[in-house]
Amino acid sequence: MKRIGILTSGGDAAGMNASVRAIARSAISAGLEAYGINYGFAGLVAGDIHKLESIDMDGIISRGGTILYSARFPEFAEEKTQLKGIEQLKKFGIDALVVIGGDGSYHGAERLTQHGFNSIGMPGTIDNDIPGTDFTVGFDTAVSVALDALDRVNDTATSHQRTFIVELMGRGAGDIALWAGVAADADAIVIPEREYDIEAIAEKIKQNRKNGKDHNLIVLAEGVMSAAEFKEKLDKFGTLHTRAITLGHIQRGGSPTARDRVLASRFGDFAVKLLLEGKGGLAIGIRDNKLVASDIIDTLENHKHITDVSLQDLNDRLRF
Ligand code: ATP
Repeated sequence: MKRIGILTSGGDAAGMNASVRAIARSAISAGLEAYGINYGFAGLVAGDIHKLESIDMDGIISRGGTILYSARFPEFAEEKTQLKGIEQLKKFGIDALVVIGGDGSYHGAERLTQHGFNSIGMPGTIDNDIPGTDFTVGFDTAVSVALDALDRVNDTATSHQRTFIVELMGRGAGDIALWAGVAADADAIVIPEREYDIEAIAEKIKQNRKNGKDHNLIVLAEGVMSAAEFKEKLDKFGTLHTRAITLGHIQRGGSPTARDRVLASRFGDFAVKLLLEGKGGLAIGIRDNKLVASDIIDTLENHKHITDVSLQDLNDRLRF
């Protein structure tokens, strides 16, 4: 083992740079060389690969986005494209690859592993939707950004007696909506993992008004529907002074929180340690605050991310 390749893929997440830094610095301090691959699997196939020096990692821990850029490259699902990627890795003398990204990116790492090239999947996505880990890098920052926006919306909602519907990211997993919603004292949290009862939500808003609370906040995960669609449905139950907001890509940007930086540092160092022990084909994660590694093929084929929906029950109790 002499050279480790690193790429970031799929949607960018705060803390991807902290992840790249941790892998590169850990590798270099262990006497290995680190190679950065630009634009995810697209750059891998194109051979957009360069050596990373420790000095290149200076200051990037605090930067959002990814210095290695990211890309969507659906062609990587084809076997011939995967084999081209392996050819490039061999050309650059790279012995193992760490893929930082979401579950789609993990599939890329899994394919390379199936072809005999040791790859490790490292969770970097705001959605927190990867099997094999309690938390992904980027999730905590996305929740903090969303919470800041929800607090601001709460201020204006209070002043104008409005019902705000705020759509947060999360196509398949409602984790961002749940965490930000609980922290923002939302009146209702609507997530894809559970059925919702729009009539009951409308009723609750009316009840709130009768009880003297005339501003309301509904946090909606994008996987359910858009804020505009939800508003249209809710408006059928009377005049609730609704406003719809979509927070969008703002949730991806910004300087990572301390929690995301530390998690990225632990994951990166752990990935290098495993590769040095000759282990590969793994998905790494954190469970009960312990670093864990599981077989990437088994993780993707037999496991699913489980959203802690009990947070919605908690919110309902605290909002009663
Ligand atoms: P996020 O959920 O944060 O958007 P992601 O990693 O799930 O991140 P995707 O767009 O699903 O994002 O996947 C990223 C890239 O991974 C794809 O553009 C493609 O290059 C590769 N990829 C996805 N699915 C597969 C697959 N089945 N086989 C090989 N490569 C894949």
